Amino acid sequence: MTQAEFSRPLYEKYDVAGPRYTSYPTAPHFSDAYDAGDHAMAARNSNGDPLPRPLSLYAHIPFCHSLCYYCACTKIITRHTEKAEIYLHYLLREIEMQGALFDKDRKLRQLHLGGGTPTYLDDQQLWRLMQGIQQAFSLATSEDREFSVEIDPRTVGNETMAILGDLGFNRMSLGVQDFDPLVQSAINRTQPAAQVLQVIEQGRAAGMSSLSLDLIYGLPYQSVDSFNRTLEQVLAIRPDRLSIYNYAHLPQRVKAQRMIARHTLPAPAEKLAILEHSFNRLTEAGYLAIGMDHFALPDSNLARAMMDGTLQRNFQGYSTHGDCDLIGTGMSAISMIDNHYSQNAAWLRGYYRALDAGQLPVVRGHQSDFDDILRRTVIEQLMCRTWLDFDDIERRFEIKFQRYFARELLALAPLEDDCLLLRGPRGIRIRPLGRLLLRNIAMVFDRYLHQQPAPVLYSRTV
Ligand code: SF4
Repeated sequence: MTQAEFSRPLYEKYDVAGPRYTSYPTAPHFSDAYDAGDHAMAARNSNGDPLPRPLSLYAHIPFCHSLCYYCACTKIITRHTEKAEIYLHYLLREIEMQGALFDKDRKLRQLHLGGGTPTYLDDQQLWRLMQGIQQAFSLATSEDREFSVEIDPRTVGNETMAILGDLGFNRMSLGVQDFDPLVQSAINRTQPAAQVLQVIEQGRAAGMSSLSLDLIYGLPYQSVDSFNRTLEQVLAIRPDRLSIYNYAHLPQRVKAQRMIARHTLPAPAEKLAILEHSFNRLTEAGYLAIGMDHFALPDSNLARAMMDGTLQRNFQGYSTHGDCDLIGTGMSAISMIDNHYSQNAAWLRGYYRALDAGQLPVVRGHQSDFDDILRRTVIEQLMCRTWLDFDDIERRFEIKFQRYFARELLALAPLEDDCLLLRGPRGIRIRPLGRLLLRNIAMVFDRYLHQQPAPVLYSRTV
């Protein structure tokens, strides 16, 4: 497979706000009319599929000890660790209720603990969480599963990493963002490189063989030179996966970001230069660009999935387990069961209240219709592969692609002129220059984007 190519003029041209397409339709289009009953029915019906899908479980732990100023996640900053005990009580109840909806022969193949900060839970609480998951679901064998956990290097010690290994976690994900002390101080996330390295070594020694690191470009005081120093330190660690996210400064929407003074942010040209340099340096170091903002070593699962066409996209970003039904548990978590999306209450009181009433805390969702499923398939193929096969779509959906998507194919013309893609009689091929601008290509097929009654504040595409 050819490597993606970076073009600064094209990035500048295509820098517009757009969804990340971890779902289609995207979460702002979910309906409040969708409730726990709809979710339960979708789950039970999915058991009856001729080939029931394996399961993937996400558990959201919303608590953090301190506020990172760039953060737009759903989290609760508190030093009152007793809150975690109450939360765990409810989370375990929800996990038990969710587990009861699915047939026991459906194996839990993927587990992800995210947040917030999963390691806000102490070792004993983590152990009880895993016990609860094990009781509610049938876990796949250790060779056949991916159990991952987001680690905050500031809050874990050697013992916790060893326990996570004992609990079966084989993949860790760490938010590095930037190793520069000035940047760290400006975003209120001080974690010296030595501390991060130590935690990674402890995790690897505990059996977590897969490592994913997150970086962010566009943070205060970053420059090409400063970010390059972080990149070199990261390359020395050689994670099998790397994400480089664009910092979207939206202080009107994300209150924490008001702590970041606009004048400390790199100018757009510098920001783009950081991205260009990062792309060049990572590909030169042997990483493959996966989709928009992910990079992976060629022998990693993610790169192999991209090359053999099995890469998928869901709420956890790019995934090798996209064939699973995804069960989201915890405050604000989103599930994707067959053609249904459902989202939990994004505030603690609502989350607890529903569970106290013996109900799942689902507050909104969406049941996809034919057009949604068709467009989701098209968008996912564009985001995950470099080729969209009209015959395949026509066979699966019994449509004439060129007729159904006549308007969209026409709208792709300027993108084709810019060498992002090729439209042929049998399909659409994403060209190397288009591989980093996939959101822009996918947006052409998004019916909801054009129907938007009021603007949704998406981040810029680059
Ligand atoms: S970045 Fe992570 S640790 Fe920091 S506030 Fe957000 S969720 Fe918490």
